[in-house]
Parts: sequence; structure tokens; C-alpha cells
Amino acid sequence: MAKLYFRYGAMGSSKTANAIMVQYNYQERGQNALMLKPRLDNRDGVRTVGSRSGLSAPCRFVEELDGIDLSVYDCVIVDEAQFLTKAQVQRLVDIVDDMDIPVICYGLRADFMGNLFEGSHWLMAWADTIEEIKTVCWCGRKAIMNARISGGKVVKAGEQIVLGGNESYVALCRKHWARGELAPLEIRRIAAGKEAYLPLLLEADPSREMIEKYLDAGEMYLLLANGQAVSVAVVTTTEDDACELKNLATAPEARGKGYAGKLLRHLFKLLQPRFSRMAVGTSPANVTFYERFGFAREGVIPGFFADNYPEPIIEDGAALKDMIVLSKAL
Ligand SMILES: [Zn+2]
Repeated sequence: MAKLYFRYGAMGSSKTANAIMVQYNYQERGQNALMLKPRLDNRDGVRTVGSRSGLSAPCRFVEELDGIDLSVYDCVIVDEAQFLTKAQVQRLVDIVDDMDIPVICYGLRADFMGNLFEGSHWLMAWADTIEEIKTVCWCGRKAIMNARISGGKVVKAGEQIVLGGNESYVALCRKHWARGELAPLEIRRIAAGKEAYLPLLLEADPSREMIEKYLDAGEMYLLLANGQAVSVAVVTTTEDDACELKNLATAPEARGKGYAGKLLRHLFKLLQPRFSRMAVGTSPANVTFYERFGFAREGVIPGFFADNYPEPIIEDGAALKDMIVLSKAL
């Protein structure tokens, strides 16, 4: 007998990555698993499910179910199931009961105000199996609430679904959600949506074109202070055992508080198992900063800034020409 599953978890609990893995497991056994998501409105026209981990997979919309021949599928997977309507959950129940096809739904339990979503409400009521996908708050307790962050603050009122807004979401334990307390300091690796941090990256590297050369392949790390992105770093692999710090930037209003140094020290520890050295190319004004963290001068690339940047970069009243290369053993 097929079952209706509801696997719920807070933001960032890898629900989409789980959904993609389940589809992959079906395919590995020579079976078909249909990936679906509800269409939020006409603007949401992308037939892809994407995870923060960077994994993504093609999908169809739940609204298109009438035009899909379900008889060729062994399983139906629904991502973002919190956005389903009651009628759509009923439709999934019918697929399970009338066609004997298992339906596995992934979604959030509650919105940023702590209320059930419509889809989650009916899945909680009707699913055969309800399973939790766990994730943790910055304090280490289980995160069960989803906080909406706007301007660095936890907001508790507004529309349930905001499309195309500047809000971001973070999973918190109930206590920290209720108090609106975000992590004092937190480092996150950003795998998807790196472009959102371009304004911050441009603080350290004024050419968008240059940033785009290393952004995709680079590993991006973000330091957040009370939910605000204050420092960013991008690291690329140069040789088998070496890496290069391509960008290290701090938001203008957050400078002088040691954030870049904290991020850098964390990177030394994080990258040490994979790389023996870290190199950085910088301007004369930043050499002292890097020397303080154990970097030593290795050489100079003459004319680097003059040759590679469309506009002159002015530092201490003069146009930058040469790049100074420093490196450090990890
Ligand atoms: Zn907490």
C-alpha cells in the first residue's frame, strides 16, 4: 500500500537536497520519480528545485498534474509543499489511494509568524507518515521556527509569502525566535546565490568582471553578526595543496571591529586539512594587515592593477599599479 509522507523541517534543513536524493535513488533502481513544486504565481516560472547546497533538479508544477501521465511514475515527490492548497493536498491523497503511488512531500511546518502554512496544515492532518528533518539553531538547540530577517532584525508581522523581496530566513529555536535573537557571530558557507553579495565583494575588488572570474569556482564564506552579513571571503584552489584568498571584504559600517580577522582565522583552521599554503594578492595598503596574520611577502606582479582593471584604482591618492603577493603556511 502506497503512503502519503510529510517530511517537514525548518529553513536550511536540507529538505530540497533530500528530495533530490530520493529522486536519484529511484532512478538508480531503474524507476521514475516525478519531482513537483507548487507554482507560487506567474512570476515563478522556473521549473527547477534548488537547494542551498547548490544541488538542483528539473521539476514540473503541481498545477500541471492534469496534463501528466502518472501511470509511468513509481513515486511523486513534492518540494515546497507548505505552499500547497487544501485541494492540491487532496489531489495528492487521491494519487496515493486511487493509483497506489507513494507521494513524498517536503516542506516547512510553520511560517515566520509561527502559524501553519495551508499545505502543512493539511499534510499534518492527512499524511500517513510525518517525519521531521532536523536542523539546529545557532545556540545548538533544535531549530523549529523560521525567522524572517529584514534589515538585520527578526520581523514578526507581514505577508505570509513575499516574492522577490529582500527578506532572508533563518532557522531558530523557539526561544531565540520569540526573543528575536540572532547569532552574535556566525560563519556560513554560501554555495548558491553568491551574486547577492556582490555589493560587499566590490568593497575589496572594484571590478565586477574580475569578481565573476573567481566567484563560481570559489568557495564563499560569510561572517554574520546578529544576522547581518558583515564580512565575506572567497577562496580558490590554485595547486593541489595551495589555495588563494581572492576576496576579503567588510561592510563599511562594520569596519574596525576585527570581523575580517575573525573570518580569516576561521579560514586558516577550516582549510588546513586540505591546503598547505594560502596565498593572497593585494595592494601596498593592505600588506601590514596580512603580515599581522602571519603572511609573508613572496613577490610582486608588476602592473597587475593597471593592466587588469578598466578604471584606475586610487589608494592613498595614487593609482595602484603593482600587486603584492603574500603567502602563509596553513
Ligand atoms: Zn537558539
